[in-house]
Amino acid sequence: MAFGLPSSRRNFLAGLGGFAAAAKLMPGAGLAAEASGAKGPPPSAWTDLGRAVTGGVLRPEDPFFGDLCRPNNLRYGATLPAGIARCASAGDVQACLRWVRAQDMPFAVRSGGHNYAGFSTTPGLLIDLSRLAGVAPLPGRDGQVRVLGGTLNTLAYKQMERLGRAITHGRCDTVGAAGFLLGGGIGFNMRKFGMGCDGLRATELVVADGSLVEADAATDAALHWACRGGGGGNFGINTAFTLETRPVTSVTVFHLTWTENLPAVLRLLLTELASAPEDFGSKVALSLPSRQERQAGVPATVSVLGQLHRSKVSLKEIFQSSWEWIDKSRSQIKEDVPYWVGQDFLTETTFPYYYQEKSSYMKAAHLDDAAIAAMFDWAAAMPATSMPVSVKFFQVGGAIDRVGRTETAYVHRGYDWLFTLEANWWGPTDSAEQVAQVLDWQQRAYDDVNRRTRAAGAFQNFSDPSLADWQSAYYGENLARLAQVKGAVDPTMLFTFAQGIRPARS
Ligand SMILES: Cc1cc2nc3c(=O)[nH]c(=O)nc-3n(C[C@H](O)[C@H](O)[C@H](O)COP(=O)(O)OP(=O)(O)OC[C@H]3O[C@@H](n4cnc5c(N)ncnc54)[C@H](O)[C@@H]3O)c2cc1C
Repeated sequence: MAFGLPSSRRNFLAGLGGFAAAAKLMPGAGLAAEASGAKGPPPSAWTDLGRAVTGGVLRPEDPFFGDLCRPNNLRYGATLPAGIARCASAGDVQACLRWVRAQDMPFAVRSGGHNYAGFSTTPGLLIDLSRLAGVAPLPGRDGQVRVLGGTLNTLAYKQMERLGRAITHGRCDTVGAAGFLLGGGIGFNMRKFGMGCDGLRATELVVADGSLVEADAATDAALHWACRGGGGGNFGINTAFTLETRPVTSVTVFHLTWTENLPAVLRLLLTELASAPEDFGSKVALSLPSRQERQAGVPATVSVLGQLHRSKVSLKEIFQSSWEWIDKSRSQIKEDVPYWVGQDFLTETTFPYYYQEKSSYMKAAHLDDAAIAAMFDWAAAMPATSMPVSVKFFQVGGAIDRVGRTETAYVHRGYDWLFTLEANWWGPTDSAEQVAQVLDWQQRAYDDVNRRTRAAGAFQNFSDPSLADWQSAYYGENLARLAQVKGAVDPTMLFTFAQGIRPARS
């Protein structure tokens, strides 16, 4: 098929100068931090911290401070830390916790900085784990690997490629393994291997009392259970993860696009793909153009990005009726390529921008013509901003459902699709009124689509600050047990943020 990759919202900024453009438009890092940290610790305390943290401590006047503290979601980019502790060991993490306690200083923990809702930003101490990075095979442990707490996905994937193995992983290289795993972890392998957190065999973490503990099914089953989907930032600072990996050989990867009969195509995709074999992983997207693209006549499209592990069933058989309608000039298939070569095709290049994403879980059986028509009505009513928007459906099911809803803290099992609805904008260009309009549209569309499709829950890794019932939406029937674990390891809520789990009262 001919090559014709459509643009996604994540790489959209590349055309605008991407990161450089974002950096220029950020307020002066030093000035804002001065303002927010006016009554901070004395200089001597910072000197002490600098001596205790082997990876170093940066203050606002230091080079690269602004780059290091910038979150992926620029909506939260104005919250600048008073200092950044660059932890390179579990001992550094312990030193930071002693220091924030002594200085009564707020803090946030960061690995990849990709939290959607700014939960790894703080006006206090940013405990940055990016120097605590590395992946090592564990000899004699059947393909298990040890991943350090601040490792970015890109490093983890390189190591797995060398081993000829994989886990359930995402597409964005700069997401932190910690946030990804602790909140569940979705990716194209999940229908074959289960959720990312399903492969978490053990983890080491520094907990609120400052001790470094190991949690696995034998040593601390409750904490291990909580770290498999309970979400980052709740129970301590995870300094290492032991992961089960699986051998991988070759995959067929594809990006297929439809430009006509979109409601009918979307309905077919969401119902027919649900019966695909577990070797198949996909993300279906209805892509809506930005304001500028609309003016240039760029149409909405439906597309499917995904992979098929070596299988007796062909892509054509999996796609069934929608296959004949593919716009071949805008689609690409790479057949039977080495697994990690295939991942290069699927990789997502990202740049920071402004966004809010809402999510819920759906069953294919509830996606009738009326629900699909409503989605298209809402799409047509979207107040366009400077950024394109995708309505996405990540295919779930398969191996995810072989684990019970309460077996790990990740509760969302028994569905066909993880639905997400974006609101994207470019802060310096779109007015406050335009942003308010798109957020209002997003909320009303989300409520209506959820009601029509009987969708439930929300993905804790896609933190949504506008979600009123986030506790039950993220954790369902696992919330009470998570609160008990929180009560046992962090009863005074040293680790806290707007959607942090509250401890159960003993
Ligand atoms: C561009 C993009 C692509 C994404 N793709 C996927 C995907 O394919 N699959 C998927 O499942 N998710 C995906 N996500 C969501 C992502 O997994 C979550 O946002 C995740 O929490 C980010 O982890 P992080 O370490 O990068 O972020 P951070 O902002 O550093 O951390 C996220 C949360 O975890 C806490 N935390 C960070 N490190 C630690 C640690 N070592 N110990 C304890 N707590 C910690 C933070 O305080 C924060 O609350 C994507 C997000 C973005 C922005």
